[in-house]
Amino acid sequence: MIKNIDKKIRGYALKNAIAYGGKANPGSVVSALFNEGLKKSDVKEVMPKIQKVIKEISKFNLDEQKKEYEKFKEILSERESREGMPELPNAEKGVVMRFRPAPSGPLHIGNMIGAGLPTYLYIKKYSGKFYVIIDDTNPEKTLFESYENIKRDCDWMFGNVTKYVVSSDRIDLYYAYAVGLIEKNKAYICECEPEKFKEFSMKKTNCPCRKKSIKENIKNWEKMLDKKGYKEGEAVLRFKSDMKDPNPSMRDFPLARINTTKHPMQGDKYRVWPLMNLVVAVDDMDFEMTHIIRGKDHKDNAERQKMIFDVFKKKFPWTFFIGRIKFKDLVLSKRKLTEGIKSGEFSGEDDPRLATVISLKKRGYKPEAFYKFAEERGLTEVDKVISSGDFFKIIDQFNK
Ligand SMILES: [Zn+2]
Repeated sequence: MIKNIDKKIRGYALKNAIAYGGKANPGSVVSALFNEGLKKSDVKEVMPKIQKVIKEISKFNLDEQKKEYEKFKEILSERESREGMPELPNAEKGVVMRFRPAPSGPLHIGNMIGAGLPTYLYIKKYSGKFYVIIDDTNPEKTLFESYENIKRDCDWMFGNVTKYVVSSDRIDLYYAYAVGLIEKNKAYICECEPEKFKEFSMKKTNCPCRKKSIKENIKNWEKMLDKKGYKEGEAVLRFKSDMKDPNPSMRDFPLARINTTKHPMQGDKYRVWPLMNLVVAVDDMDFEMTHIIRGKDHKDNAERQKMIFDVFKKKFPWTFFIGRIKFKDLVLSKRKLTEGIKSGEFSGEDDPRLATVISLKKRGYKPEAFYKFAEERGLTEVDKVISSGDFFKIIDQFNK
């Protein structure tokens, strides 16, 4: 067991409580103790102690908690007790990072707290290069008005440090990489119906399209691009991973598909649309991203993207999968937000009941209040559920 464990539990519980409006989270205390050397097998033993301490200190008011914390601060490890975001590895060589909002509805606090703000805090810390990449390669989900709104909201939240990139302006580059993968025999055109391919995948056997020659695949790629060629749904470009991969969703995942839905920016200029893993991998290679902070739900995607990096012999960026913050009682689904605004349930994206960025701005919040929240949370894999009441209590306090 680690030294001074009781004092450390108290110290971390107080630190976490102060950051989160008086209520400490046992998971956060445990993860801080892991950094002190706590072993997984000891968690069972220390958990009751943690819970007892949390209960005790929750009776203190914030000033009492802060006073009490001063007594314990000293013995917490430097890494944990230091203010601000922890250092990133290899940051001294320069930092290039990105935030990729999809233009499918209003930007909200969940997008910002999730990956946007921690990324931005590092850009600020290291004077790095920051790309906001508008992820618009799904013509079905892309809304015209979202482009300007994203810029407006990011300008407010991040100031003028951002460089904006629109994915659909880079289709030719994604195509070039698609051809590159085919030429390296790492991608092929699959004509199987989705159900049929699923069967092959379940049986861990190759689909017949997989053995086509490079030349044939190039010809079929052109047939995908050709208006008189394949129709929608008749062919997809697949990555050649491994049909026996233990994780079924890794097996020859798709890279591009035909979609003739009219795109709000590109109209009907393109009929083949690259899918997320190709787009993200190409952007991250092309802009030479050094560090990525992304949600835990992107673990599989990161693995797929790394496979694409490997083909081009590029070094995959250092990646951190940040825990999710779930707001118990806020509408944060972009689809629901958009529908609610359309139906008149909400007066607009700045409706004061919504936690959209524009609404928060209108309600008088300063971006710094949200920086502080993200900074106090730091880099953590722990998920957190929070009610909007508790969240705004904290934000209101920072906003002062
Ligand atoms: Zn096939």
